[in-house]
Amino acid sequence: MAPAKYYHSVQLQSDKCQGCVSCVKLCPTEAIRVRNGKAEILGDRCIDCGACAAGCPYHAFTVQTDTLEGLAKYAYNIVLPAPSLYSQFPANVPLKDIWQGLHSLGFDEIFDVSLASEYIAKEIETYLKNYTGGRKPLISSTCPAVMRLIQVKFPELIKQVVPVLAPAEAAAVYVKREAAARKHLPEGLIGVWFISPCPSKETNIRQSVDVQQTALNGSFSLSEIYGLLLKNMGGDKELNVRTGSSYGLGWGAYGGELASAGITNGLAVHGIDNVYDILEQISMNKMPQLDYVECHACQGGCLGGILAAENKFVAECNLRQRITDLRSQEPASRQETMAKTMVLADFPASAAYRKKLVPRPMMQLDDDIMEAMKKFERMEEVLCALPGLDCGACGAPSCQGLAEDIVQGKAHEIDCIFKLRASVHKLSQGMLELAKQIPIYHEPKILNNTEDDDYEG
Ligand code: SF4
Ligand code: SF4
Repeated sequence: MAPAKYYHSVQLQSDKCQGCVSCVKLCPTEAIRVRNGKAEILGDRCIDCGACAAGCPYHAFTVQTDTLEGLAKYAYNIVLPAPSLYSQFPANVPLKDIWQGLHSLGFDEIFDVSLASEYIAKEIETYLKNYTGGRKPLISSTCPAVMRLIQVKFPELIKQVVPVLAPAEAAAVYVKREAAARKHLPEGLIGVWFISPCPSKETNIRQSVDVQQTALNGSFSLSEIYGLLLKNMGGDKELNVRTGSSYGLGWGAYGGELASAGITNGLAVHGIDNVYDILEQISMNKMPQLDYVECHACQGGCLGGILAAENKFVAECNLRQRITDLRSQEPASRQETMAKTMVLADFPASAAYRKKLVPRPMMQLDDDIMEAMKKFERMEEVLCALPGLDCGACGAPSCQGLAEDIVQGKAHEIDCIFKLRASVHKLSQGMLELAKQIPIYHEPKILNNTEDDDYEG
């Protein structure tokens, strides 16, 4: 079976690649190879986490996002600012200045994602309360890169993923339907746009892993919008925008999901390597005592996405300050606070929009089972002969990866520098041995006093 085609917002510009192999070891799914001095991405393994783009010293990766020209396709455009956008600005910058800036960029309406986060938090709380009998901990589903990591590397954990929509998707479904009714427009003429801090969210709009049909029409890079906002902030236009409570705002950073769903027996894990480690532990059933694990592929949560403009520590400080300021004006009880901002009370349950998360079929050694077994045996032999250092210098992330590439005919044993050195050594020894067997050539002696010298003819 041919491998499925996957859309990827993370793309490589080969002309910029210097073949340094830095990205090979950064990829959590071993999706990068460097062959003939250039990196290549194996599409069926890539989860669009962006780790390679963050780590390439030559900036050889790009992330495909939409441009504002796309707004012209719709009669009415709604933008969904998320807490990750607000985190880019100091806490004393009024949100209305940001909203007015968005309006001046061409958006007719602004709908704050934190309102949807609170609805999703309620769904998570209810799901957890009614969850009986299955394995724990449950795993959050809001980071698309984590969902893809589970598909590719930990399909056995799919049952533990909480089946709710990501807040931006929930917001899009709600506001598109509501605006269509209010404006007497067909939903097809309403454009709903997200401002994305990371490539995985952009990819999930083009090719969703968990939604039947997305209500989002596209997304813009957070750093690009941030740059435009700096020039267009403020204005006199009165905008009718509601925000969620401090709990909805908290979703921008790690731990916000736990706090808004009232989960005390849970972990918030961020950074793709940390997430990988935790999923491995959960897969081995090493933490059944936990109720819930909130996972973010990016360091610091969404505000640490590679498309963010501000330093992630500064952004986190900005957001936490906003949360503290807001919470000081709210009732002490979380439920009471969230009930005040719950505008999505009539929102249909996530289940109506989600599709089942399924394992992602990876490239097999061979379609034919007998041939695959032969290749597997050959791979084991090749692997035994490799040094087992997983150094990455060969352009594969591990010796196992190189062994697989060799049996697939995509690499050679001497791509391993240790095997190459051994081959060169063997060759030079052979040449020395050969040299010993060649008869020694003796130069004829040249006599100084020849008979000719005496010849006086
Ligand atoms: S990090 Fe990867 S993509 Fe960037 S230059 Fe090195 S090998 Fe090429
Ligand atoms: S985006 Fe992530 S999964 Fe894809 S190649 Fe880069 S590091 Fe690997």
